Amino acid sequence: MLNDADSPITSAESQDDEPPGRPSPASALSNSTKPENKSPAEPADWKWQIANRLRSAQALSQFLGKKVPPNIEKVIEKFPMAITPYYASLIRKPDTSDPVFAMAVPQPRELIDPLFLCDDPLSEDEDMPVPGMVHRYRDRVLLIATTMCSMYCRHCTRKRIAGARESSITAQRIRQVTEYLNAHPEVSDVIVSGGDPLTMSDGSIEMVLQSLRSVPTVQVIRIGTRVPVVLPMRITDDLLNMLRKYHPLWINTHFNHPNEITPQAKEACAKLADAGIPLGNQTVLLAGVNDDAGIIEQLCKGLIQMRVRPYYLYQCDLVRGVEHFRTSVRKGIEIMEYLRGRVSGIAIPTFVVDAPHGGGKIPVLPNYIVSMSPSHTVLRNYQGMMVNYPEPCIQQIPPNIQPAEQTGVWELASGKTSFVSPARHHRIKRTANTASDKKTSYLFEL
Ligand code: SF4
Repeated sequence: MLNDADSPITSAESQDDEPPGRPSPASALSNSTKPENKSPAEPADWKWQIANRLRSAQALSQFLGKKVPPNIEKVIEKFPMAITPYYASLIRKPDTSDPVFAMAVPQPRELIDPLFLCDDPLSEDEDMPVPGMVHRYRDRVLLIATTMCSMYCRHCTRKRIAGARESSITAQRIRQVTEYLNAHPEVSDVIVSGGDPLTMSDGSIEMVLQSLRSVPTVQVIRIGTRVPVVLPMRITDDLLNMLRKYHPLWINTHFNHPNEITPQAKEACAKLADAGIPLGNQTVLLAGVNDDAGIIEQLCKGLIQMRVRPYYLYQCDLVRGVEHFRTSVRKGIEIMEYLRGRVSGIAIPTFVVDAPHGGGKIPVLPNYIVSMSPSHTVLRNYQGMMVNYPEPCIQQIPPNIQPAEQTGVWELASGKTSFVSPARHHRIKRTANTASDKKTSYLFEL
């Protein structure tokens, strides 16, 4: 443990061990309807799940009851595979039309290698003053506490790290990290990530948290984990009792599709929320998985019901091995346009492009500013209604909101009209009876 300078902090199992037991074949898959109707694949014991991860084409074929193409072994050599039996049990159809299958099962397409993709698209390795610790923004660092995950997502941004060699942070390294943090009091927020830090043992996680909490200037600790999605039974009472001691502690998890919201996942999130841990979610926009406004709507609504706040919707990074998952940026904007006005503001994530070359997260939105003048900013809402917002300087300009002969953006920007609205929108129709004559004169037909 931490006393031994170079001994790695332990994960749940000896990483190179062959699984001791055989996962139960999911012959039930062929009859499956919804994951809600299924019982867990095997005992609700997280260590069993990790020990029995599916790690080869053969094991996967056996589990699915269907032969997967042997050429995926070539992909596994380059980008390892591990799927918990629990997560594999969420596959409803064993092909890439199934979102869980697509996110978990290697595809030969991962070997497509266009020039603009690279292993470290966010240039994290360039921003590591201590190996394994990224210091990019002034007040935050990201600590890669382990390279192990219970499931290796095919779309992972850290494919260069995750699963390449399953190991966890050493006592010596965590000491270097705390020395750095003590010397950099401007850092108040530490994100513990990986790999998946919750694959480590409770004792090892506690050692990391304890070390970070020993730095007086560290205010907030965040944990990034996909455990509630792929290994929800990891959220045990012992783990929660330990985590409670290190508040303020936040957790960001990573649900990508409504099929991942199962009774087990709901229970895991409820336990974390009940332990006083605010939960956020980071979704990656993935072609063929969730690049559909209706799916993201369903996902976001499901998340807030679990007390998980949709935090980011990420444009897929330019990482080697994920070309087949990339969507256009336009697709993300289209989804954001759809969500606004349809779901509560607390269910709307921020769509971001994590910029190549270490540029950080850049929020990307549909454009809501239509025009500007010295006196007014013209905005449009989700309905297509346009309004002007008088700037503070309006006191010096005589207001003139009398109906103009014609209405348009210029009339809004110059203050001659205060709004124009599409006549056929349901809200306008609903309020039409109570609208004044003056108001209705600004309506236009789309
Ligand atoms: S859990 Fe996170 S770090 Fe691990 S493979 Fe998935 S995306 Fe990558």
